[in-house]
Amino acid sequence: MDITPVSKRRKTRQIMVGRVPVGGDAPITVQSMTTTKTSDVEGTLQQIYALAAAGADIVRCTCNEREAAEGLAQIVPRSPVPIIADIHHQYKMALAALDAGVHCLRLNPGNIRKPEHIRIVAEACGEKNVPIRIGVNGGSLHPDLYEKYGGSVTADAMVESAQQEMAYFDDVGFEDIKISVKASSVPLMIEAYRKLSEVTDHPLHLGVTEAGPPPNGLIKSTAGIATLLAEGIGDTIRYSLTADPVQEARAGRALLESMGLRERKNVDLIACPSCGRAEIDVYDIANRALEAFGEREIPLQVAVMGCVVNGPGEARDADLGIAAGNKRGHLFVKGQNVAVVPEDEMVEALVEWAEFMHEHGVDAALARADTVKAAREAERDRNMLLEKQGDDVNDAEAKVDLIRKR
Ligand code: SF4
Repeated sequence: MDITPVSKRRKTRQIMVGRVPVGGDAPITVQSMTTTKTSDVEGTLQQIYALAAAGADIVRCTCNEREAAEGLAQIVPRSPVPIIADIHHQYKMALAALDAGVHCLRLNPGNIRKPEHIRIVAEACGEKNVPIRIGVNGGSLHPDLYEKYGGSVTADAMVESAQQEMAYFDDVGFEDIKISVKASSVPLMIEAYRKLSEVTDHPLHLGVTEAGPPPNGLIKSTAGIATLLAEGIGDTIRYSLTADPVQEARAGRALLESMGLRERKNVDLIACPSCGRAEIDVYDIANRALEAFGEREIPLQVAVMGCVVNGPGEARDADLGIAAGNKRGHLFVKGQNVAVVPEDEMVEALVEWAEFMHEHGVDAALARADTVKAAREAERDRNMLLEKQGDDVNDAEAKVDLIRKR
């Protein structure tokens, strides 16, 4: 079956953030932001390395003071990913960040308000071929726009703020721009991006601002970003979580992979939700497997299933999986049983088989297995469990009867 993950992607022009293209037909990129003081060069670099390993393509650092700009000058040459400087109130910090060699600037039009300052920055960026993100934020709109739109933040007000800012850049012929119109309200940001996408072909940076701590922050960000991506809107994304930014990078990456918008980079661990049939603590094994795979670049889907009765069938599309039964783990590759291991070696076995498959491929993995014996053992444990537990272990029939009697 041919599944189209999203509507046709909206056509945007392409800009280069360092060596990473954003917009056009470039893959949608993941961004995150450091939380260290940018003047702490080693601490910031450690975080950048962790973010890059977790899937960030581009990282932003604040450039709020002279020491931060000095830090950037040392960070940029050692960073594995392009660096964006976040500029808030002082246009001179933008110039200092450019001198430090950053690959992009993020300006908040609500905070740098003098047109002549914006023009000076645009000209300096033009000379160095450094793009700018116009980062409109629902929480910091220009007071005139609040007033014009009846004292509240609306999608139209946010789009107008972005357009006003774009006009300053147009004046000096600067076109290397990407734009965001973030809000903490999901419906508001969706509406603002939809409207913005109708009036510009500059690439769009998507995000729900101040989304808060997980899990709600994750849910809000995903609701907003995924809705727009599914409509073909968005060229680069950021989860703004009140959490370790590594979680932001992981979430961004996972979202794009799950929507089929980026190639899988790490293990996609799927697991059953567990139920009365589970022969193991599924949560524990799944979490231990997640930890064991960590950031290893093994682009396989790996399943942890609580029982051999239904697990192998339910996860037959996974590249590799394991299902518990009778104190043993039944490994399967592409739905075919390949091996049986003791229950306390399930995680290690998964990692070993995943590494082997990644290195040698599916056929080699199947070739090294005694699939007939493994299938026979699985069938034996399956039948044993069915005999012991019956085919209605969750007692569904009795429960339905009870509900009906009430
Ligand atoms: S039936 Fe087995 S595989 Fe399915 S949820 Fe229950 S324990 Fe997991």
